[in-house]
Amino acid sequence: MENYAMHINGNWVGEELDTLSVINPANNETVGTVPIGGEAEANKAIEAAHHAFGAWSKLTAYERSAYLERLHDLMLENQEELAQIMTLEMGKPIHESRGEVNYAASFIKWFAEEGKRIYGETIPAHVKGKRLQVWRKPVGVVAAITPWNFPAAMLTRKMGPALAAGCTVIMKPSSESPITAVKLMELCEEAGFPKGVVNLVTGSSSKIAKALMEDNRVRKITFTGSTEVGKILIRQSADQVKRLSLELGGHAPLIVLDDADIDTAVAGAIASKFRNAGQTCICANRVYVQSGVYEEFLEKFSKKVEKLTVGNGLDESVDIGPLINQAGLEKVTRHVDEAVAKGASVVTGGKSITDQGGVFYSPTVIGDVDPSMVIMQEETFGPVAPVQKVETEAEAIAFANDTPYGLAAYVFTESVARGMQVIEQLDYGIVGWNDGAPSAAQVPFGGMKESGIGREGGREGIEEFLESQYVSIGMK
Ligand code: NAP
Repeated sequence: MENYAMHINGNWVGEELDTLSVINPANNETVGTVPIGGEAEANKAIEAAHHAFGAWSKLTAYERSAYLERLHDLMLENQEELAQIMTLEMGKPIHESRGEVNYAASFIKWFAEEGKRIYGETIPAHVKGKRLQVWRKPVGVVAAITPWNFPAAMLTRKMGPALAAGCTVIMKPSSESPITAVKLMELCEEAGFPKGVVNLVTGSSSKIAKALMEDNRVRKITFTGSTEVGKILIRQSADQVKRLSLELGGHAPLIVLDDADIDTAVAGAIASKFRNAGQTCICANRVYVQSGVYEEFLEKFSKKVEKLTVGNGLDESVDIGPLINQAGLEKVTRHVDEAVAKGASVVTGGKSITDQGGVFYSPTVIGDVDPSMVIMQEETFGPVAPVQKVETEAEAIAFANDTPYGLAAYVFTESVARGMQVIEQLDYGIVGWNDGAPSAAQVPFGGMKESGIGREGGREGIEEFLESQYVSIGMK
């Protein structure tokens, strides 16, 4: 077990502080510790990032890109070490962790390129003797607060565009999975980023966030996590009108229409629902199947789910790792038990598994669900697929939209016209059409309604870290 440190202004610090233990949810063993930083450490990081901003923002886009390219290459060279630590600290199967390292690195690569395409504008003037221009500038010091479920990718999806745009960054990872962030920080150091350009603070989220919110040198908060915490940050950011990007919770519907290719729908539902033990923001959380194909879908789907193997993610053959912690397990259990008490039937699974010392839940399919059940109203964050029978396409759309969330939705139909008509009516920022895995670095990722504000990835991703400065030039 190792005691890790924070990184502020080019130095590894925090050895004198109390520590928090990072627990492997597969066996309850301590993986390592990180310092419990608070306001003082956040303030030092703000000072460092503010100081570094001047020189970093004045580099050319090509110079900043070279640092990011080095970081990208180092991430791939160290893929296995990053993947192992990720699986140890938050449980995802090792093949998924390797995939996440590639995915995380792809954001660094994409924004290393995209930084070279931050164009201003020249706008035709309405009178003679004027030149109207729009210049682009980095917003300034950025604080990135991230969740545990994608310990690397959620950071790089923020760091990549922020650094490419000319901002400096303070990373605040989740206390459940901060060691991956420490490893990423080591790679930033190896890539040679100047001191203070990237900083890492671990510890008390509320104390760190307080310091970030109260210091007007922090101009942007980029957050991924629960809608509940997102709302706290919206309120706290009001006093200084700080810019916010929020990637929040989801409650994704997956719709299977009666002309769907059922094998494609089953494969898509497995990919969407059971990745990361159902702990992704875009996981299908509720499945609506048209009555004509309901029985066929349920049978084929549950047969595949039964074959998913559960265990310690370090085992190469495991498909489903543990949940993140006891609270996660209790939430999943509560959702299933409440549905069953109201008349849902367990087709497969439906049990917690705690005899291995970790917090596991069996891959589960439940049928006969209805909209009154909590599982159809809230994000479950576990390997459970509730399947509801619907009669019409209109009914499926109405159920899908009947939620405050609007992150991802999935539609399975072989008809192009039908697919387009359904998707036009879905209030979701991301739609997978005959596709259960829509994420990629080059596309805009983000939600409507209470699932967030702003987009990450794609062309839009870098806009979140830029200001437009309109300049009106008087000229003969
Ligand atoms: P969370 O509890 O909201 O925590 C997210 C981050 O916020 C962590 O770093 C946490 O730090 C910090 N935090 C907690 N309370 C805070 C406060 N009062 N002020 C400032 N920061 C605070 O979410 P989570 O359980 O880690 O992640 C799961 C959630 O993230 C799900 O709802 C999921 O849908 C969402 N998510 C969304 C996306 C997306 O792209 N839309 C992607 C992934 C996950 P500590 O751990 O130190 O408390």
